[in-house]
Amino acid sequence: MPVTTEKPAIQNLDPAEIEAALAVRGQPKYRAQQVLRWLYEKRVTSFAAMTDLPAALRNDLAEAFEFVRLENLRVLGSEDTTRKYLFRLPPVVRLAKNIQHSTSNIQHPTSDASPPPANDARSSLDVGRSALDVGRFAAGDLIETVLIPASPALYGEASDRRTLCVSTQVGCAYGCKFCASGLDGFSRNLSPGEIAGQLIEAERLSGERVSNLVFMGMGEPLANFANLMRAIDIINSPWGLGLGARHITVSTSGLAPQIRQLADQPRQIRLAISLHGATDEVRGQIMPVNRKYPLAELLDACAYHASKKKQHITFEYILIEGINDEPAHAADLARVAKLVRAKVNCIPYNAVEGLQWKRPGEARQDAFMQVLAGARIPATIRREKGHDIAAACGQLRRQQNANVA
Ligand code: SAH
Ligand code: SF4
Repeated sequence: MPVTTEKPAIQNLDPAEIEAALAVRGQPKYRAQQVLRWLYEKRVTSFAAMTDLPAALRNDLAEAFEFVRLENLRVLGSEDTTRKYLFRLPPVVRLAKNIQHSTSNIQHPTSDASPPPANDARSSLDVGRSALDVGRFAAGDLIETVLIPASPALYGEASDRRTLCVSTQVGCAYGCKFCASGLDGFSRNLSPGEIAGQLIEAERLSGERVSNLVFMGMGEPLANFANLMRAIDIINSPWGLGLGARHITVSTSGLAPQIRQLADQPRQIRLAISLHGATDEVRGQIMPVNRKYPLAELLDACAYHASKKKQHITFEYILIEGINDEPAHAADLARVAKLVRAKVNCIPYNAVEGLQWKRPGEARQDAFMQVLAGARIPATIRREKGHDIAAACGQLRRQQNANVA
């Protein structure tokens, strides 16, 4: 039986909550600053290492709070130095379904089966500790994080250097037909500390500074909205990891209501849409989410985001042979990109074991790009790095699970 606990993780608290936790222990306000510095500047791995706190307080905090640490199981590197990290999450207390807690807006992990795809964000918020179901524990879930060197200005400024691709959920409920992450369904949401922790661990393991972060690992970020926003607070804030908002990109399969919510929050983070089809017919064939939010509704939400943020969004478009890679498809893509003044990023499909989809040959890829260029759409094609290390999201975890099964 794994040893488990009902303790909240310190990394899931915001500065005001840390202050409050310290105040009830009779501590002055500045102690919260000290704790934050240890967590995000010095990046210690235990309360014991917070040496300018009184020893009794350190013990007290260790009693009261969990300390999130991601355990690195494997590192795969490829020739072009893309590195892929497989992490095991700490075992977590499982929570019963549909019980609400009034004070916390952290989404706790749940072991329940997949949430309905494209759920309204509100329904998955506010599951609190009062909902503990201590009978059900995870054995430790696996997630992937990928560090990609020097990509040519895909999402941010021309100086894109090291891009980190992080996961937001274990598995994914959205079941896009081409994607490895959804093949085994959804397991749970990551907590804010587990999401931000991937950046801390990747920098620790690589000894390198990450300059761009994309939410393009496993899971649908906007289906874990509250935790995503809190993780972005940690990653972006001066009291946290201090990565600039314009260097952070959220990618979504197209959850229209949450795209609007994202537009209404103040941070200037970037938005990428996994489009992959520029008509309902093509998109609906490979992305079930298109039934819930058809193209017109998605494009409306994109236009709303673009106007609120005064920012160009990016359409991600995987090229899959025989599905969406004809010149006529490129013309459709050019038309919708123009509607919302989106940039386009084409990605030749990365084969997934067990799935039948293929990447088109280079001549076909070039013909597709030429149609976009002819329509004057700003478009790039990403020749995948890390092809040789199963870098398409969800693949390494599946291999590992197959090995231990
Ligand atoms: N759920 C979010 C973010 C994670 S997926 C989303 O769908 O946007 C990140 C990107 O990887 C998406 O654009 C997704 O379509 C793409 N992707 C998934 N499987 C892939 C594969 N086998 N080859 C290339 N890209 C893939
Ligand atoms: Fe989920 Fe994104 Fe993969 Fe679709 S592409 S199954 S939304 S991770």
